[in-house]
Amino acid sequence: MTGIQVHPHDIVDEGMSQIIAYIRKLKDIRYVFPEVNTIFERNPNPVGKLPRNPVHEVVHGTGTMHAVLPAYGGSGLDQRREPSVTPDHDPLMMIKHAMQDEEFEVIPWLNILNGHFEGVALENNLVTDVYGNFIDHWLCPNAPDVIDFWEKTFVGLYERYGFTTYMIDRIRFPDWGGQEVNPKGLLTCFCPHCQQKMAEENLDINEVKKALETWAAQLMDKKFEIAVGFAAGNEHIQAWMKFRQRSVTGFVERLIQRVRKVNDSFNIWLDLWPPAYGWMLGQDYASLTKLSPALKHFPYHKLGGGADVQGLIHYLADTLEEQERAFQAFKLFFCLPYELTYEAFKKDGFPIQFVADQNNTVREKSAPGTRIFSGIQMWNISPGNLIEAVQAGESSAADDLLYYCYGWAGDELFEAIQSYREKGTNSSWKE
Ligand SMILES: [Zn+2]
Repeated sequence: MTGIQVHPHDIVDEGMSQIIAYIRKLKDIRYVFPEVNTIFERNPNPVGKLPRNPVHEVVHGTGTMHAVLPAYGGSGLDQRREPSVTPDHDPLMMIKHAMQDEEFEVIPWLNILNGHFEGVALENNLVTDVYGNFIDHWLCPNAPDVIDFWEKTFVGLYERYGFTTYMIDRIRFPDWGGQEVNPKGLLTCFCPHCQQKMAEENLDINEVKKALETWAAQLMDKKFEIAVGFAAGNEHIQAWMKFRQRSVTGFVERLIQRVRKVNDSFNIWLDLWPPAYGWMLGQDYASLTKLSPALKHFPYHKLGGGADVQGLIHYLADTLEEQERAFQAFKLFFCLPYELTYEAFKKDGFPIQFVADQNNTVREKSAPGTRIFSGIQMWNISPGNLIEAVQAGESSAADDLLYYCYGWAGDELFEAIQSYREKGTNSSWKE
């Protein structure tokens, strides 16, 4: 049983009857994941047009909340409401009503730490890099008002819409990608709350900062191989990575405790980065999966596992020779054992083996019984490559697939899966 993600503009622009007709083509969709609050992302990403949207060719997400909720700004922190959403024009209510008598289950998808947040307490809750700069639009998991805001939001969503199971995404520190490449987002968080917590946990903050500055300087001097060895062998950097992981797991644990106190039927599923990268962003599969029954991750092999690999390489390296060295160092750092050149990667991404490798690693690292959804890239890919990814996901240790995403996927991709499912049924009859 598979899932598919939809955006709020899909629901309001295309209408649910068209969406339902299309997802039926995929044959075995059980879960539909409507995004409730957007991120700063071009739809579709990074180029192209929305193939079926009759109102917009392109939609730019602005990090707003597309649900009808009370205003929480009085307590210091809130997320900007999407101005076009009103009680009578409410995408989450539209999908809830449309799905009530259908075979699909709706699981709202929330972006937790990244978005257009506002309020008088905003600065006190933002992620801060090692140089003391705020990282715009990113909340710190250790900051004081973030949990309060999300507890109120979950309870508010439950009260208006009645959903008790949610997928939570962006539960991590910033990566280097986004509207522009900024690797300083990795050198976080040094907000006062994190520094206090580091001190309590006996991290030597000055040594951590010094080590990170040395590491950054090595990368900027294009000493990529040295930088990989330095980070792997430096006790302060390693302790800081573990601190980030404890910070994210602790946040998720407290969030689940808070909402369950209000209503013990709340169920939180996790959207994580593939394990090749997740550890670097504060995501520890072993401890997170003790808190949640299900997770999705996105081993999109064509896109380098969803990371903006090319953006980072081009930020760090200028000449072809430097780019090749940077790419080889990148693979070493993230333990990606694929023998390929940067030229080959730019053309075809990672080999298809990446999908099964990452799913198998998720299975190894996760608590026994965790339900694993393998994200399937359903845009900017040929029908043949899509089916190849579906087969790789199905033959791996993942339990289910989750297509990303409805609104970006051309008709030919729906038809490819439809025909694969129908032929698959036929061929199994013959055997
Ligand atoms: Zn912080």
